[in-house]
Amino acid sequence: MPVGLALPLLLVAVLATIVVVAGCTAKNKSAIPANQRQEYERPEKVESAVEAKKLLVEGNERFVSGETAEKDLSGTRRDELTEGQKPFAVIVCCADSRVPPEHVFDQGLGDIFVVRVAGNVADPVAIGSVEYAVEHLEVPLVVVLGHEKCGAVSATVEGGEAPGSIGAIVEKISPSVEKARGGNLEDEELIEKAVELNVEQTMRDLKASPIVTERRGKEELSILGATYELGSGEVKWL
Ligand SMILES: [Zn+2]
Repeated sequence: MPVGLALPLLLVAVLATIVVVAGCTAKNKSAIPANQRQEYERPEKVESAVEAKKLLVEGNERFVSGETAEKDLSGTRRDELTEGQKPFAVIVCCADSRVPPEHVFDQGLGDIFVVRVAGNVADPVAIGSVEYAVEHLEVPLVVVLGHEKCGAVSATVEGGEAPGSIGAIVEKISPSVEKARGGNLEDEELIEKAVELNVEQTMRDLKASPIVTERRGKEELSILGATYELGSGEVKWL
């Protein structure tokens, strides 16, 4: 081969290799540029409830400010998660469409384990879901999240007939509403108080679980309560 031809061919080969290598590297990384993902990156393993709460507080601050982090929703991230999940917190919250925990706490795929049921009550199935997360996934923090203008709590305050299985929800919330009535509160204030007391009731229901008790006893788990404000987007810790 003439020397004059060999050099361009070599250059083409080198360039092709660079393109292929770069392509593979890009595939193995997120679709989101690293500089945009920076603020969202969390420790590989979140060991403590304090650390987990900090991540939730920071996430809610981002949500409130409107400057939410870029989420890695790429196929690569989904592939990573097929190996298993390691969520750092369990969120027990209402099914209300205005209170989606992943948005409220600005979290992405695989970050939080969510148990949603109207009125954020803890029936055996919800408790079992939390037990699974703390026992098998070793999640260090459970947050019970109530919210402003909760329809399930309002319906319980209003009373009247609860059709179908709605009665099961009302039954769980009723003791908290009755307790709130003891404070001579009315209307919005009564509902707000009942929401708080209902969060505390769910926390008690969870704490009654032997699995939860054991992990709390070893200081491997904390249970916190909070409420969510619809308008501001703020999570207020109880
Ligand atoms: Zn609700």
